[in-house]
Amino acid sequence: MSSFSNTNHDAFWMPFSANRQFRADPRMLVSAKGMYYRDDAGHDVLDGCAGLWCVNAGHSRPRIVEAVQKTVATLDFAPAFQMGHPMAFEAADRLAKLAPGSLNHVMFCNSGSEAADTALKIAIAYHRLRGEGARTRLIGRERGYHGVGFGGISVGGISGNRKLYGSLLTGTDHLPHTLDLRRNAFTRGLPEHGAELADALERIVTLHDASTIAAVIVEPMAGSTGVLPPPVGYLKRLRDICTKHGILLIFDEVITGFGRLGGPAFAAEKYGVIPDIMTCAKGLTNGTVPMGAAIVSDHVFEAFMQGPETAIDLPHGYTYTAHPIACAAAIATLDTYAEEHLFERAEILSPYFEEAAHALRDCPHVVDIRNVGLVAGIELEPRNAPTTRAYEVFDRAFRKGVLLRYTGDILAISPPLIIEKHEIDRIFETIASILREVA
Ligand code: PMP
Repeated sequence: MSSFSNTNHDAFWMPFSANRQFRADPRMLVSAKGMYYRDDAGHDVLDGCAGLWCVNAGHSRPRIVEAVQKTVATLDFAPAFQMGHPMAFEAADRLAKLAPGSLNHVMFCNSGSEAADTALKIAIAYHRLRGEGARTRLIGRERGYHGVGFGGISVGGISGNRKLYGSLLTGTDHLPHTLDLRRNAFTRGLPEHGAELADALERIVTLHDASTIAAVIVEPMAGSTGVLPPPVGYLKRLRDICTKHGILLIFDEVITGFGRLGGPAFAAEKYGVIPDIMTCAKGLTNGTVPMGAAIVSDHVFEAFMQGPETAIDLPHGYTYTAHPIACAAAIATLDTYAEEHLFERAEILSPYFEEAAHALRDCPHVVDIRNVGLVAGIELEPRNAPTTRAYEVFDRAFRKGVLLRYTGDILAISPPLIIEKHEIDRIFETIASILREVA
């Protein structure tokens, strides 16, 4: 009998969940190691989504566990306001070295949501310090996800995450999303068509005037709304338009960072398009301890270093900014990625992963398959029922010992980068068999 049955289930209000549905038929995880969770009935569950796109090195890696244990026993907490501890400087230096171009300065926080709001605030402040205080407008994108802070949902493009919460930040606008099933269905890797969608930014600039626009924020590959790889040439075009009009470009690499797309650590480097600010979280600590970061380029940072040396450069930060335990986890995580060459491994495995994903093409209900690196989205045809097919596949897969993610009608697969080929097979074969069962 699981401990769940002895607890008041109404106390924990689960986020982004149908709480009443869950309580009727719970899915409970009690431990994790390597590629597998264990549920409360003692069954192993193959982790097909790296927890929540974050456990890129696999679960409970000894090096990270030891770093966390050692730190909690030696420096349980240290403030980062006007104080320092060595691991904060080391973690920032390691992250800055991993980030491409002149993205050399790290403002830590505790989540992807905080990273997005931190980046947006830095962008507005940057312009103001340079005498362009009218540049306050923030441009996001339809189907963009930048967490759940007011900044993040204002630039985010998911109506369900916005509509309960009032008027949000004023002065935002949105680019069109890049999904085009008519032209790009079943593309392997980056879709061929759609670079011109970036030109919508020119229309937005014409409408509002560049002098009012602070920043554009996009995920290089939209993850949470169903794995939308960028069309070939799209990111470069956005970069060029931003540069032309003095608009800062922010990449939200909360999902795409730390090898998820295979090869370099970040999408920015993989696609050769360097933003002015980049956010990350999740894989930064392998999911072990909450941590996020906004990484800013030299020219943005320098704008904050012009005032009196005794003045606070940026009035922003959190009690837990650069928490020692998070810094220790981040350093051990980056060591693990490097020693095991996990980003390269993701790249080497990606053709196999791509084949396995696209083998589902002829399964019932499949209307699109999208993939890059070790992430894939499988879009199913919508149906007229209280729950989507994707939810049903997700739920049945869990009962068969495979953890997936679903969003609307789309399944997302993003396993730890340590996955073996037979485990890739098992994930996609499980989905295929369930798709044949599901009405
Ligand atoms: N940005 C992106 C691109 C994300 O995918 C997420 C989380 N899925 C976030 C921001 C928010 O991160 P968090 O849940 O850690 O606040």
